[in-house]
Amino acid sequence: MVEKIGILGSTGSIGCSTLDVLRVNADRYQVGLLTANSNVEALFKQCIEFSPEVAVMVEDNEARKLQELLESRGSNTRVLTGKNALVDAVKTLELDTVVAAIVGAAGLLPTLAAAREGKKILLANKEALVMSGDILMSEVDKNDAVLLPVDSEHNAIFQSLPDAGEKGRVSLEGVNKILLTGSGGPFRTTPVHQLHQVTPEQACAHPNWDMGKKISVDSATMMNKGLELIEACYLFAVSPDMIDIVVHPQSVVHSMVSYLDGSVLAQLGRPDMKTPIAHTLAWPERINAGVEPLDFYQMSDLTFEAPNYQRFPCLRLANEAIKAGGSAPCVLNAANEVAVEAFLEGRIRFTDIAVVNEEVLNRVTVTHCDSLEKVLEEDLMARATASRVCQERE
Ligand code: NAD
Ligand code: MG
Repeated sequence: MVEKIGILGSTGSIGCSTLDVLRVNADRYQVGLLTANSNVEALFKQCIEFSPEVAVMVEDNEARKLQELLESRGSNTRVLTGKNALVDAVKTLELDTVVAAIVGAAGLLPTLAAAREGKKILLANKEALVMSGDILMSEVDKNDAVLLPVDSEHNAIFQSLPDAGEKGRVSLEGVNKILLTGSGGPFRTTPVHQLHQVTPEQACAHPNWDMGKKISVDSATMMNKGLELIEACYLFAVSPDMIDIVVHPQSVVHSMVSYLDGSVLAQLGRPDMKTPIAHTLAWPERINAGVEPLDFYQMSDLTFEAPNYQRFPCLRLANEAIKAGGSAPCVLNAANEVAVEAFLEGRIRFTDIAVVNEEVLNRVTVTHCDSLEKVLEEDLMARATASRVCQERE
């Protein structure tokens, strides 16, 4: 049976890698939905190649341009736009699988809609889970959805944990620790006193991975590893004390699970997101990802070290936020999105990102977050506070 796939955020780094995998497996998959925020040219090309039933372009001026271009080519793809278009498309198209690859909080509502529709969800959009972990996971459970982690570390952990049978659930039987690896980013060894002068261009130049700008900056501050710590707590229902962060600059081991008997299971591979994407697409089967095999004869030494919490204060903040619980992870995520944007626009310094995040966590009172409305409210409030803190530092 051919599976119908919807890709939320198809023009981004994960979206494009997903289409690369679909291209080499065209006999198994068809594309039902492609979406973008504003990149007309990229979405147009994708629509011509993959002929989805629906294309969502969130920005309406761009949606009009896309519509005209598609009409001029006699395309059958319907273009939707507006605030609810992403959620409507997820609800109404009969998709088998939804790839959640929008960056940031903007991905939450359509991802949640996919959970409520009981879809198979391939989750790259970690911010959605960080904001609303309890709510998203409970919707997945309630509606018998399948949530599979695309994030390479979580995918590696998923592959290394005992399988709990079906629906992508895992067991923690015999598990001692989860070892979440991270490269340490481009500034692992940069003298700390030089970090305040880092430019957006330097921060976006990751040594191993080619990714969108926001996650690249997050990797440079190691906020990404902090968000991933929170992501892992929700995905695998573990406390942060069960997770050790291990810095591994070569990004060959994508994470590990340590067992009570002393065994450690790991997943290894090239730093190419097509591998976890292909793994989750075909799970529990295996398909060709179009990735070269790992060549052990060509590999440099694999090294491992402890994370440096002084150099990377965002890691400490994420640990504190998940331990505080309630709205704290949502607040930290919102603050960080605002701070990263301000940094990319040249309004604050690289080192201000952590300062803004900490200041927002200090100014906002942590509350219990048991509804989606509450999550969205906390998110907005934290963003407003973060904007003020950024202005104070400009
Ligand atoms: P990206 O910036 O390359 O792409 C983002 C996509 O989201 C684009 O298609 C864009 O059009 C869409 N988008 C942006 N803002 C939007 C909005 N307001 N409304 C609707 N759509 C919007 O990002 P990316 O690197 O592909 O990352 C996507 C997600 O996957 C992030 O959550 C990231 O943390 C996660 N992730 C990425 C990688 C990677 O290698 N790139 C690895 C692991 C996890
Ligand atoms: Mg990752």
